Amino acid sequence: MVLRRILVIGAGGLGCELLKDLALLGFGNIEVIDMDTIDVSNLNRQFLFRMKDVGQPKAVVAASRIQERVEGCTVVPHFGRIEDKPAEFYRGFHIIVLGLDSVEARAWINETACSFLEHDEEGNVDLSTVKPLVDGGTEGFKGHARVILPGITPCFACTMWLFPPQTKFPLCESRASLFADSLSRSDDPIPNFPSPRHAGGDAQDARALHRVGPPDQVAQGQRDGGV
Ligand SMILES: [Zn+2]
Repeated sequence: MVLRRILVIGAGGLGCELLKDLALLGFGNIEVIDMDTIDVSNLNRQFLFRMKDVGQPKAVVAASRIQERVEGCTVVPHFGRIEDKPAEFYRGFHIIVLGLDSVEARAWINETACSFLEHDEEGNVDLSTVKPLVDGGTEGFKGHARVILPGITPCFACTMWLFPPQTKFPLCESRASLFADSLSRSDDPIPNFPSPRHAGGDAQDARALHRVGPPDQVAQGQRDGGV
């Protein structure tokens, strides 16, 4: 297991937990990508970060903190947008774990994973080209986790129509802003929320590709050969 290459996308609230759990589970070859820098409002829940880290890239600080605490674990950080890495970067990992906060970023990485799929002459998926995605998400006090095996299970785009309309729960950030107030940094009352800043993928394209819609349309998509 220690030889498996795992990519964690996002080093925020979910990402900090994911990195800690994966490292403690024995995964010794982890990489993490995140485009954000640490804000004082993150410190109440993104436990890998300290006050002295404010302004530093989340991926870089999270990686070094995990390596300090978990012996034998290597974490390689990537500070930047997921869209700026070539597809080959993502192909090199055995598993991709998502700690994202936007639908757009999930749609983008989902499309990238789906683009790796190859089929034989009879249309069967070449299992060696299936890139497992482990998707997690939080909204308010609720959370979800699921495994997506592109070409085998419904992918993110296939099931996008199931999502309820997005509701804004500024809970952790408003508490964070109280925290920030106490530190005299209250210029932005609800910093970072909502934060679709990983945006870049085109959800409309994904819908068209996977014929996303109510069940009758999905069935039509499957008849047409949609993933
Ligand atoms: Zn799909």
